Amino acid sequence: MKNIDYFLGGMKQLDIIPSDEIIEQFKTYYKLLLDWNEKINLTSITDEKEVIVKHFLDSLLLVKSINLNNIQRLLDIGTGAGFPGIPLKIIYPHIDLVLLDSVNKKVVFLEEVCQKLKLTNVKCLHGRAEDYAKDLDHRESYDLVVSRAVSKLSTLSEYCIPYVKEYGHFIAYKASDYEFELEDAKHAIQLLGGQVDKVDQFQIPNSDIMRTYVCIKKISATPKQYPRKAGSPAKNPL
Ligand code: SAM
Repeated sequence: MKNIDYFLGGMKQLDIIPSDEIIEQFKTYYKLLLDWNEKINLTSITDEKEVIVKHFLDSLLLVKSINLNNIQRLLDIGTGAGFPGIPLKIIYPHIDLVLLDSVNKKVVFLEEVCQKLKLTNVKCLHGRAEDYAKDLDHRESYDLVVSRAVSKLSTLSEYCIPYVKEYGHFIAYKASDYEFELEDAKHAIQLLGGQVDKVDQFQIPNSDIMRTYVCIKKISATPKQYPRKAGSPAKNPL
C-alpha cells in the first residue's frame, strides 16, 4: 500500500489513531481484495486511493453516528467483500462480528481474510437474511445490525430489523437522496417493531461524498411472520 499517509489522514479526521498492527491488517486486506478480485467478482473499485475512501473510510465513518465501544454483537447483512463489517472489526476488536452473504464464494473470501488478519470472534455465514432470521441463535439477538448497498430501505428493514434485540439499532448506509426511500419504508419499519431514531449525514474524509445513516431503534419484538419467505421482501416490499 503506497498511500498510507493518505489513509492515516482520513482516519485522523474520524479520531482513529491506528496501531502498526492495524495498519498491517488493512494492507493485507487490500492485497487479498485485489488478488481474489481476479478470480471472483468482489468489487469494481480497485484503485488504492479509491478503496481507501469508498470502502475503508466509508465503512469507518459509522463511528460518527454511534459509539461502537458499547456494541458487543454486530451483524453485517449482505456484507459482500466485508464492508462495512471488517473495517469496523479491525478498529474495534472487542466486537463479536457476524458477516452474512448469500454468495458462497464471497463467504470463502471472508474466511480467508479473517484467518490472514488473525481476527477472532468473527463468524462468516453463507445464506439469505430471510432464512437466518428464523434461527433463534440470531433472531432478536444483535446490539447493532448494519448494511450497505444491499436493497432499498423497505426491503432492507425486513431483512435486518428481525435480528435486532430490543433497544438495539439497525443502521442503513444510504446515499444523500434517502428521503423517498425512508418515506416508502416507514410502514415496514413500524410493522417490524422499529422506530426511526435519527438520520445522520457526514462527509467521507478525503472526498466530497456524503453518506447518510438511517438509524432505526428496535422498540418492540418483530412479529413471527417476518421476515417472509426468501425473495418476498424484495419482490413485494411491506
Ligand atoms: N455490503 C457490501 C458493500 O457495500 O460493498 C456489498 C454490497 S453488494 C452490492 C450486495 C451484497 O448483498 C451481495 O454480496 C449479495 O450477495 C448480498 N445479498 C443480497 N441480498 C441478500 C440477502 N437476501 N441475504 C444475504 N445477502 C444478500
